[in-house]
This record gives sequence, C-alpha cells and structure tokens, in this order.
Amino acid sequence: SASHYDVIIIGAGAAGLMCAATAGYRGRRVLVIDHANKPGKKILMSGGGRCNFTNLNSTPANFLSDNPHYCISALKRYTPQDFLELVDRHGIDHEEKAPGQLFCKDSAKDILNMLLTECEWAGAEIRLKTAVTAVSETDAGYRLKTGSGPLTCEALVIATGGLSIPTMGATGFGYEIARQFGLEVLPTRAGLVPFTLQPELKTQLAPLAGISCPVDAECNRQHFREPMLVTHRGLSGPAMLQISSYWYPGDDISINLLPTQQIEDDLMGLRKQKPRTTVAQYLAEYLPKRFASAFNELHGWTGPLQEYKNADIEQVANTLGDWTIKPAGTEGYRTAEVTLGGIDTRQLSSKTMAVLDRPNLYFIGEVVDVTGHLGGHNFQWAWASGVAAGNVA
Ligand code: FAD
Repeated sequence: SASHYDVIIIGAGAAGLMCAATAGYRGRRVLVIDHANKPGKKILMSGGGRCNFTNLNSTPANFLSDNPHYCISALKRYTPQDFLELVDRHGIDHEEKAPGQLFCKDSAKDILNMLLTECEWAGAEIRLKTAVTAVSETDAGYRLKTGSGPLTCEALVIATGGLSIPTMGATGFGYEIARQFGLEVLPTRAGLVPFTLQPELKTQLAPLAGISCPVDAECNRQHFREPMLVTHRGLSGPAMLQISSYWYPGDDISINLLPTQQIEDDLMGLRKQKPRTTVAQYLAEYLPKRFASAFNELHGWTGPLQEYKNADIEQVANTLGDWTIKPAGTEGYRTAEVTLGGIDTRQLSSKTMAVLDRPNLYFIGEVVDVTGHLGGHNFQWAWASGVAAGNVA
C-alpha cells in the first residue's frame, strides 16, 4: 500500500524547501520529492556561487506578471527582513554588494544548509532521485506514482521551478500538472538572459569582449541603469539581463552610453572652449579607453570638434545617448536565470497559493507567472510563496 503524508512537495529547490520547513513546524507530516541527485542545485549556482538571497528594497514593482497584484500579499507577509532574520539566526555571514542586494560572504552552500537544517528541525523528509510519473486525485487528496513506489497525500505542492538551465534538472513538469488539472499556462520565455547579436555587430564588438560600462538601457518603456558587459557571444551584464525580461523578438533596445552626461551640451561646450578636442577624447573621459576608441571607430568620428556643425554634434549625441540595436535573440533557457510566464495566477489564491476551486493543490516559486528583476527578488518570491503555502498546506 502507498505511504501516506499530510503534505507532499514536488521540487527540493528554494520554494519547496522553504514550504517544507514551514509546514513541518506546524506538525504536518511532510515529504519533499526531487528527481535530482541533490537538493537546491540552483541555490548553489546562484549569485556566482554566493547566492543573492534577497533584496532589502524588494517591492511588487520588481516583479513581472500578467496579473501584477497577485504577488503583493505573500511578499507583504514574508519580507526580506524576515528572511534576513532567519539567515542571522543561523549565523551566516552576508554582505550588501549593491544597494539592497544581500549575498553570502562565503558560499551559497550556507543558504542551502540552512534550509536543509530547517527541514530537519521541522521533521520534513526529503527523497531525492525520485521521479513522479503520474498524479491522480483521490477522495482525500492525491496519489502519486513514483520511481520508488506509490505515495498518497492530503495536500500537494508543486515547486518544480521554471525551464531555465535544463542541465540543472529543470523540466516542464509543473506546467503539465497544471494543465492536467485544467489550469491555464501562459506562454513561457527565457528571462534575465544575455542577448546575441546580428553577425555584423557581433564581429564589430568582438574585440571589446570583457569590457563593462555603466549604461541606461531601455526597452518597451522600462529603464535600467546598470553595467553592460560585452562578451564574445553578445551583450550581457546586469543592464542587459534586466532588459531581456522586457524584450520580445524583433524589439529594439536603446542604450545611453553616457547616462550621467548631457551629451549635446557637453560637446557644444567643448567645441567652444577646447575646439581641438575629438569625440574619441570626450568619450575616453567617461568610457573604458578600449570601448571609447572602438565605438568611435565604429561610427567613423574623426577630426576635432571645431569641424563639427550643430547637426553633426546632434547626431553624435544621439548615437551616444540613444544607441539603438536590434538583438538577434537571447541565449535562451540554456543560460537564462529565470523563466517568464507560467501558471496563470488568476486561478490561484494570493493568500495560500492554492488553486481557487481545489484548495489542496498548491503552486509556488518560479513555476507560476511571477518573475523578479535581477538582484535577489526571485529568491524572495520563492521564500514568500513557500511560506504562504507552508502556513496552510
Ligand atoms: P528551483 O530552485 O529551480 O527548484 C526546482 C526543483 O524542482 C529542482 O530541485 C528540480 O530538480 C526539481 N524538479 C524539476 N522538475 C522535477 C520533476 N519533474 N520531478 C521532481 N523534481 C523536479 N535568484 C535570485 O534571487 N538571486 C540570485 O542570485 C540568483 N542567481 C541565479 C543564478 C543562476 C545561474 C540561475 C539559473 C538562477 C538564479 N536565480 C537567482 C533564480 C533562482 O535560482 C530561481 O528563481 C529560484 O531557484 C526558483 O526557485 P524554485 O524553488 O521555484 O525552483
């Protein structure tokens, strides 16, 4: 006969482990199942191995969703400060690398170990290398067919994450379960992902690989002022990753390479006061030298500013302040940090994360249509949605 649990959570990632500990502390008999050989693989690789585990300035405005109000309730009830208290209670050293962005000082392992310790203290079991092959409804909950025999539970929580980084165990399992129970799954696409470029621009920028500069990037009325990084594959860095979540194939991106400057005024002033200055010299004041000269060459700006007419200066200023490129695409799920889209939250309770007409089936974490900006917001959603479900499941 099947072993029975009060709560079964599929997915031993950020959201699943948080949910397991929360439900376990309420005295529920909890099992977490994962097909991978280790729990929390994405936690370990996150934030360059240091896990940007939350963002102190996280607000609902840091999330993309077709139903933007859905995330508000859970985020309000479990805040970055709440998670930070947990981290501090476990004595984990952390640092604020950029405003609000908290990282482990040592290693992302600290966060994973903390969650595993919490699960142990809460009495939640974790079963790895176990694939779920079928889920069906029973009178009192759900029945699961798994590689290690049948299981039954009263409450079933789906925490299988999105499609990014398939080599780390990502699958579309959560979407399949959602469809099986009649839920709508919104189209998914890769987010927080580097851009690839058209061959010509790629070749022109290739010598600049490794150079980073602060820019203001804009796409579909969203702005991000953060560093951009040129790579041998295309454009990356925080500014490009952030913008990628708002980009659709065919869209242009506008990049202001000198976001702190009034470029046209600067150039007009220089032409008057230091007429022999070149555009390249001006650029070199604010951009890495190699980038400045390559960008200058790319646009064929030669000669001193005294030879530039007003219209020429205007054109240079436009190119620098509104450098418009059309990416060829993105690197896709292979390198994306997150998956945009997913289970339509209109069918879920923002209080409990349960399906509205099916109160013992829950969806938490990245599998639902809530996607954070870069900077610790995605984990904050995983923690908050995990706690919301763990408090009731
Ligand atoms: P996951 O953590 O992905 O967990 C899902 C789990 O489900 C996995 O263990 C998987 O093995 C399991 N699973 C999948 N399918 C099945 C199945 N069919 N059967 C059984 N188990 C299954 N976010 C931040 O906030 N800060 C960061 O610094 C950060 N850095 C990142 C770096 C990288 C390289 C990547 C890829 C992502 C990063 N993210 C970061 C995003 C963050 O990791 C995710 O948003 C978060 O892990 C989502 O949590 P989750 O629990 O929903 O899913």
